[in-house]
Amino acid sequence: MSLGHYDIIVIGAGPGGFTAAVKMAQLGAKIAIVEKYLIGGTCLNTGCIPTKFLWNSLKIKKNIKKANYYGFKTFLEEPVKFQDIILKKNKSIYNLRQGMIKILDSYSIDIIYGHAKFKDKNNLLIYNKNNIYEISADNIVIATGSEPLKIIDNNSNDPKFINSTEALSLIKIPKNMLIIGAGVIGIELATIFSGFGCQVTLTETENRILAKEDLEISDEISKNLLRSGVNIITSCNNALNKINEFEKILVTIGRKPLSDLSLTNIGLKTNKKGFIETDEFCCTNIKNIYAIGDITGRNLLAYTAQNEGVIVAKNIIKGHCISLDNSIIPQVIFSIPISASVKISGFSQYKDVIFGKFPLTASCRAAIEFERTGFVKCAVDKSSKKPLGFWIIGSYADEIICTASQILKSGIKYIQRETFFHPSFNECLLNAYEEAFNECTDLPKNKKKEF
Ligand SMILES: Cc1cc2nc3c(=O)[nH]c(=O)nc-3n(C[C@H](O)[C@H](O)[C@H](O)COP(=O)(O)OP(=O)(O)OC[C@H]3O[C@@H](n4cnc5c(N)ncnc54)[C@H](O)[C@@H]3O)c2cc1C
Repeated sequence: MSLGHYDIIVIGAGPGGFTAAVKMAQLGAKIAIVEKYLIGGTCLNTGCIPTKFLWNSLKIKKNIKKANYYGFKTFLEEPVKFQDIILKKNKSIYNLRQGMIKILDSYSIDIIYGHAKFKDKNNLLIYNKNNIYEISADNIVIATGSEPLKIIDNNSNDPKFINSTEALSLIKIPKNMLIIGAGVIGIELATIFSGFGCQVTLTETENRILAKEDLEISDEISKNLLRSGVNIITSCNNALNKINEFEKILVTIGRKPLSDLSLTNIGLKTNKKGFIETDEFCCTNIKNIYAIGDITGRNLLAYTAQNEGVIVAKNIIKGHCISLDNSIIPQVIFSIPISASVKISGFSQYKDVIFGKFPLTASCRAAIEFERTGFVKCAVDKSSKKPLGFWIIGSYADEIICTASQILKSGIKYIQRETFFHPSFNECLLNAYEEAFNECTDLPKNKKKEF
């Protein structure tokens, strides 16, 4: 049965596909969005939102204890029931999903549930239970995202092996857990599970956790995890020898593209790992087919998928008019305390770089909030005084990093005392920048080496 013809069909209703569909409808196109599972994609259902909901629940647990510092006589009447938190998380995700469906409806975007595959470059087959539908469009946007990589081992079919999606649906905290892979997702889940009482062992084949991150940030996160009882084993090539010791083995070793779309039927180009290749306009090697978000393997982040959704919409409807710009992309790690970084592209080409570091122990706002663990570090090109990057570990790093990105975009002119509210965490960016020249007025003279 044919479901009709559209100007544009979007495959996948994660942050990339959703944003693209809405933007294209705003620009006047007739749109259908095809989704094989749940509106919201990985981000809403099994990624950003559930992890951050659980992270925030953990923060609340810690804040209840912190309240004593301010003189409140608080106590937990009974231990937190993890199952109740999971129910609240699911409810919150459900409500957010309903909100997204409302938005799609409001723009008259047709939602078609089913698994899409290419019949040819304008026609898709939609597999829904026992039915197969056909649908066509002038242009098609692939936004099918990614899924967790599995570990290749004889034991990996054992139900104690879980991935991030399954970990986020556990209703009971396991007694102990082995996490294989200490990248961002491994760290976030180690933080959550250890915080709720699981004895976590985190293993990493590299010689440090978060091997791609700044060394000082990775060391600081490592220290904080050790303090909260996580056992960290780096340079570990035999993690699987230990599986009998654990109730759950959580594998967080990366992600692979969700590209079961019969791409060979249309000769669409992918790279060696199966991610779809595009040009700077998000266009694939086939003129009317575009790809955005995780499926391209570019950044595997929700906000870059959303950004590409806007870019692809404008490029399809107005003609190729906007290129991808990945020059400044902030990264955030929801550890406790939280960590974030941003640097300009080509950072490594700067030869004469100086650093300024401002410890949160010297911040008034951190003292007020009793959140004094961490620092803000700034890299500056010595001759031009241009800020090149910021690394933050400490409360609100996820919010401060947006200001840091703006500073890198706007350049030196933006870093002026009068721009920053006092007392704020944001002003620590200015302090770190000034400290690169030993000019920070909120630190003692020549004392920066002591922090
Ligand atoms: C544990 C975890 C935590 C994360 N935390 C963050 C975070 O805090 N911030 C952040 O920016 N990013 C985070 N991410 C990454 C973020 O979730 C992804 O980068 C983002 O969801 C990618 O968006 P997307 O639209 O490309 O794909 P997805 O969100 O994966 O959506 C793709 C959609 O396409 C559907 N689909 C796939 N194939 C087909 C098909 N053939 N037919 C029909 N539908 C199909 C899928 O069911 C899915 O709904 C996290 C990821 C994980 C796993």
